[in-house]
Amino acid sequence: MNDRFFSAGAAQRTRLLSEGKSGKGPAVYWMSREQRARDNWGLLAAQEAASEPGRGLVVLFCFSPSFSSASSRHYSFLEGGLRETAAILEGYNIPLLFLYGDPGEKIPEACRLLDAALLVTDFDPYPEKRPWKKNAAASSVCPVFETDGHNIIPAWIVSPKKEFSAATFRRKAAPLLDEWLLDFPRLEPLPAVPPVPEGLFLSLDRALKSVRRKAYGPAISWIKPGESAASEGLSFFIRNRLDSYGDRRNNPAENGTSDLSPWLHFGHLSPQRAALEVKKTGDTPSRAAFLEELCVRRELADNFCHYREDAGTYEGIPDWARKTLDEHRADTRPARYPLNRLESCDTGDPLWNAAQTELVMRGKMHGWCRMYWAKKILEWSDSPEEAFSTALLLNDRYSLDGQDPNGIAGVSWAVGGLHDRGWPERPVFGKIRYMNYRGAERKFPVRQYIEKINRISDGE
Ligand code: FAD
Repeated sequence: MNDRFFSAGAAQRTRLLSEGKSGKGPAVYWMSREQRARDNWGLLAAQEAASEPGRGLVVLFCFSPSFSSASSRHYSFLEGGLRETAAILEGYNIPLLFLYGDPGEKIPEACRLLDAALLVTDFDPYPEKRPWKKNAAASSVCPVFETDGHNIIPAWIVSPKKEFSAATFRRKAAPLLDEWLLDFPRLEPLPAVPPVPEGLFLSLDRALKSVRRKAYGPAISWIKPGESAASEGLSFFIRNRLDSYGDRRNNPAENGTSDLSPWLHFGHLSPQRAALEVKKTGDTPSRAAFLEELCVRRELADNFCHYREDAGTYEGIPDWARKTLDEHRADTRPARYPLNRLESCDTGDPLWNAAQTELVMRGKMHGWCRMYWAKKILEWSDSPEEAFSTALLLNDRYSLDGQDPNGIAGVSWAVGGLHDRGWPERPVFGKIRYMNYRGAERKFPVRQYIEKINRISDGE
């Protein structure tokens, strides 16, 4: 079925979700996780299918009324990116049309209205979005495909099962990487599609007006949304931080990491593009360290969410971790803080308060602090289940890159030992890896980090 519509590059990354009858209308690409015009395998796949005379291509984006933790800062970032992408697509005669409602219903409805030849959408194992695609595929009349534009090696190809650890995933991914890490074909202008039927489709402003947004934390200005800003961000990182990434990335007092995660999360930047550009600059331990995070740790998180139905819940953490946490359920906690104290950065631990302040004020916490932050929540919560849901809630509510498989894997690792091994047993944590303030002081200048964050919250 793939060969009927797609040529090699995109076909390799695309799989059939449901068969159906092709209509006489355009090819349709349902943009969801990959919100960009450039370097987008799903869009490229749909373009190939659209190249048949008279077909054309339409892109849809559907706003769901219920997307649990998304707040104003997420919608502002999303909006900025979509405005830029719509303008770029217009130059290729590809309209970007907006819908509001349950994507599982609205997308098939739009495809019927357009008499779509086929529907292509993004692979996305984030649990809250899985039913959208399942329902859309089940009720579409036309054939439905999904393309993995987020993983360099498609998640269903790199491994057929949930991987045990980064090491087992790396063993499978490493030998395939060169074969898959190839440059992208160009998006080509297409013949214009006839005017689309009115009614169902909304302007971006109208769709956004329908979305209920809650404000958590101030608006974010240190990072700009959109594919151009993402591309500049990648160049900035390569020029200024990549050489020292290996040495500086675990020091929260410095700005040593790439800060690419918000763009990667919203799909403004293709991970494959980031890996290609970094690879072009040579082969050093710093580059290897960055590619390990980008290509192994990030894709391992997708592997977990793809193969575990219960990813994102406490039940999704390994059995050994649940057993050990259960055995320490009754242990005395050194302190207990309810959600409101945590959310307002009000604990007895100045490092934790600074990390939470960074999350609230900046919409992104340093990667090292994220581990410490979540482990402290485990130490201070009445139960491990509560710790798991509190950490995920705060992460997703405030972090620009939240509501992502990486967040699920990160919290499952810190609180629930996912992809980790057992460590010497201790109170509350059982065999889950432990982190404490003194250990942090041995790693980096904690006071310097706290002062840096105080300056951010003072508006510097
Ligand atoms: P860099 O160090 O520059 O890394 C480059 C890219 O590699 C990142 O953008 C990311 O895509 C990937 N990466 C780096 N570290 C990891 C990791 N440990 N796991 C998976 N991918 C990684 N990441 C998110 O994208 N969204 C989240 O909501 C999120 N929540 C987390 C919660 C906890 C408790 C923990 C422990 C980790 C979480 N992470 C999350 C993973 C990681 O901390 C962030 O990806 C990283 O801090 C992003 O900053 P950066 O782009 O500057 O990272």
